[in-house]
Amino acid sequence: AIAAISALAISGCGRDAGSEAEGEGGFEEGAAIGVALPQKTSENWVLAEGLFNDGLTEAGYDPDVQFANGGVSEQQNQISSMITNGVEVLIVGAIDGAQLGTQLAQAKEAGITVIAYDRLLTNTEDVDYYVAYDNFQVGELQGQALLDGMAERGEGPYNIELFAGSPDDANAQVFFDGAMSILEPEIESGNVVVASGQTEFNQAVTQGWEAGNAQTRMDTLLTGTYGSEDLDGVLSPNDTLARAILTSVQASGKELPIVTGQDSEVESVRSIMAGEQYSTINKDTRALVSHAIEMVQGLGAGEELEINDPDSYDNGVKVVPAYLLEPQIVTMDNAAEAYENDPTLSEIVNE
Ligand code: BGC
Repeated sequence: AIAAISALAISGCGRDAGSEAEGEGGFEEGAAIGVALPQKTSENWVLAEGLFNDGLTEAGYDPDVQFANGGVSEQQNQISSMITNGVEVLIVGAIDGAQLGTQLAQAKEAGITVIAYDRLLTNTEDVDYYVAYDNFQVGELQGQALLDGMAERGEGPYNIELFAGSPDDANAQVFFDGAMSILEPEIESGNVVVASGQTEFNQAVTQGWEAGNAQTRMDTLLTGTYGSEDLDGVLSPNDTLARAILTSVQASGKELPIVTGQDSEVESVRSIMAGEQYSTINKDTRALVSHAIEMVQGLGAGEELEINDPDSYDNGVKVVPAYLLEPQIVTMDNAAEAYENDPTLSEIVNE
């Protein structure tokens, strides 16, 4: 009986210590909040900068929002400065989610809560939460849109090519896997043919999410594989790359294939309405930033944060508790409805 009591006392003590460390660590109005953003590789990041600055200020905090256009080491330095400057929360949209381990360990030591924003932070214990749109679902929607778009034009078999995002961004693999979960059965049945034979993620990647890299690869694929063959569709992981792919095909004089995208960038929404790019994904940046700010407020109040996906995002060291928002596919057919709450995009759709 004595052993049982002391065991209880020990475990009870442990639990108290734990909840004190996690639950009651709120912070006050005016607290500094660091937001480390990557390079401006797509419009969503540029939008996020202004939304974080305005939203955090309005919520009574002191935001420090930085882009790291110079690359990984610039982002590492920015995060170190934020820690030195005493931020309470670090919100990180990583360039390379695997390269921030040292800085995040410092953040943990300083008692800072770390939220991975849009992109997962990998190979580290020191990340508390992940907030993003459901990346796998983004890929599934892209794969399905590619099939739907090609079916609207005629019967298979269809020739397609596959593009993926930057390999240092953890999202890129997840987008690709989501899309391939839809496309693979069609490839196996022979209804869809990747004519170049480049079906692996590593063959499809676009370093740095750079338009120029996608355009060069598309040029090469067109000369190498599509001298006389038709190209029916291209899986593109985002809008910036979709437009680069379309530019390449246009220059070749071939008919434009069905091309997917993501981010609802202004130029791509125009292109969709003009019947060029086929689809994009609506991941409203306003909703993602405002959820991240709600998380900061919850942490400030010492509350436990709501999580809706506790087990999908294994970062190699731990499973990061995630809050995922739902992405939406957009084509010419549903654009008016999809963007009805977005003044800029609905104006383009109704032009
Ligand atoms: C984001 C995409 C974006 C890409 C390039 C990804 O991590 O989830 O929305 O298109 O980065 O900036």
